[in-house]
Amino acid sequence: MWIALTFLFAGSTLALHGWWRRRCRLAEAEAGRWRQECERLTAAHERDRVSAALRQAALFDSMVEGVLILDPQGRVQLVNASFRRLLKLSEDVTGKTIMEALRLQALQRLLEQLAARGSVTDFELEPNTLHGQTLQVNAVRLAARGETGAAGAMLVFHDLTRIKQLENARKDFVANVSHELRTPLAMIKGYVETLLDGAKDDPEIAAKFLRTIEKHADRLTFLIEDLLNISQLESGQTIVTLQPLALADIGKRVIDDLRPPAAEQGTGIISQLPAGLRIRGDASRLQQVLFNLVDNAIKYGRKGGRIEIGARADGDGLAEVWVADDGPGIPPEAQARVFERFYRVDKARSREEGGTGLGLAIVKHIIQAHGGDVWVDAQANVGARFCFTVPLCDPMPPGD
Ligand code: ADP
Repeated sequence: MWIALTFLFAGSTLALHGWWRRRCRLAEAEAGRWRQECERLTAAHERDRVSAALRQAALFDSMVEGVLILDPQGRVQLVNASFRRLLKLSEDVTGKTIMEALRLQALQRLLEQLAARGSVTDFELEPNTLHGQTLQVNAVRLAARGETGAAGAMLVFHDLTRIKQLENARKDFVANVSHELRTPLAMIKGYVETLLDGAKDDPEIAAKFLRTIEKHADRLTFLIEDLLNISQLESGQTIVTLQPLALADIGKRVIDDLRPPAAEQGTGIISQLPAGLRIRGDASRLQQVLFNLVDNAIKYGRKGGRIEIGARADGDGLAEVWVADDGPGIPPEAQARVFERFYRVDKARSREEGGTGLGLAIVKHIIQAHGGDVWVDAQANVGARFCFTVPLCDPMPPGD
């Protein structure tokens, strides 16, 4: 009996132990599954967090505006790529104050205004403080956080340099145009008044004054034509139609037109344009270019001098064309500026010649519309040589 009871007890103990071990294994497996699930969720959460942070950083860095975030102590917390580019920062400025990082008094003033008002809009940083750039800053205090209730700030920088340059160019242009229009008008009015005051009664003086009035009226007409031309060219409305052309034919037409004024000065014009040189260009526009260059060579060249028009294939699929004179040339410091609107080396001479100050600016626009370049080589008392390139129609070997 005892033996049977002992076996029964031992059997039940073993069965219980086996059941317990199975339960433990199941519980462990269950715990393992939960652990794996937790790890999977944590990893997924971390992945989401990292990708959200990367997306945010990419967005932040792709902004055109420069962004600077300051912490409650006024130290740099974050800047984006545009901010580094705009302020030409090469080192890390995180943790520095504005003065330590940028050394800009103007920004310090902006922070003082921000502290007083909570936001600042359209604050301009002038070019003299910033590598010649004009920046506009909008700043806002960020919502207070934490136990201290201290707030940081966000500053957004817009680059206004290009807009300011265009605005200044427009103002200069309007001022120049008004001046150019007013000068001949004042002359016309002056001569008309003198005629009315009695000069009209002397036929010789009257004829002389009327010729002068006619000259100034012509100058006004040329100026208006040139202004219309340049405004069309600058607005991109003028589309040059590139067609195969014989450059020598265009040169001939220009020389025929300008031979009389050249002869008046005793100046000879020689064409060395190769007969077979064919280019791709807009005939009437290129005629305008050659006309302006040869006309200038007559006006500013030497009386009794010599003007040469030539061209060659440059071997890069372009024709290099030049108009050279043997006049007084152009001083080196003025050579880069003669293509600017209204720039004249000698203002009085240009006016006397009826110049508008726009001829070379028009030349530059037309050549650029052909995909070419224009430049001048000039030496004092040797002469000026204006060169430009246009696409060749049938490339020729260099030197032809
Ligand atoms: P303008 O109407 O005054 O001739 P342009 O734009 O044609 O205006 O020329 C600008 C200036 O460049 C001229 O005023 C003149 O001072 C200078 N210039 C142009 N061509 C020559 C040249 N061949 N020799 C010397 N100076 C020149």
